[in-house]
Amino acid sequence: TTFADLGLSPELLKAVDAAGYTEPTPIQAEAIPAVLMMKDLIGIAQTGTGKTASFVLPMIDVLASGRRRALMPRSLILEPTRELAAQVAENFEKYGVNHDLKMALLIGGVQMGDQVKALNEGVDVLIATPGRLMDLFERGKIMLNACELVVIDEADRMLDMGFIPDIEFICSKLPEQRQTMLFSATMPPPIAKLAKQFLNNPKRIEV
Ligand code: AMP
Repeated sequence: TTFADLGLSPELLKAVDAAGYTEPTPIQAEAIPAVLMMKDLIGIAQTGTGKTASFVLPMIDVLASGRRRALMPRSLILEPTRELAAQVAENFEKYGVNHDLKMALLIGGVQMGDQVKALNEGVDVLIATPGRLMDLFERGKIMLNACELVVIDEADRMLDMGFIPDIEFICSKLPEQRQTMLFSATMPPPIAKLAKQFLNNPKRIEV
């Protein structure tokens, strides 16, 4: 399989080429076409497998095919830690160089004012840790009802860190009509339950 076989746009193929990737990793080969076909997804994969690009690349193409709406973020990526959220944001910038997509990184330890300003300018993708997202939501600074593309990354770490109630709350504020992807290195029962609750007929990929 080549990246060109997966259905990505020429702009993204250029970005992938610029990143120096010659062929997709197994999770990318399976996940990218599924995401482009708007399927829900459970990806059982560790870090190091290329799982970040497996959702960031197709998300960029899906977002590029729609239009930004002021004050209504169109997609959401949840990460358990600030560091992981920042890494995903870097990936988004790297692969999205040929696209005009706006991103907001919502993590703790950063002044809320700048984050609110970014939100008010219109955002295509929110990359957030649950704590800061909850905080901004409760202050009425964020609307989640247009987030039609959602990633819950590192779900088992979210569980270890006690974030499942936050994730459930956040998911309850998302639109019913949406595409949801959940990634986890392991599938303990609370994560299987979360997936059952919030994903719709997901494709399961295990690498
Ligand atoms: P991840 O599993 O998402 O943390 O990615 C692990 C590392 O693999 C990152 O440094 C990526 O830049 C790199 N990577 C992702 N996809 C590919 C690929 N198709 N070929 C080579 N390296 C890749």
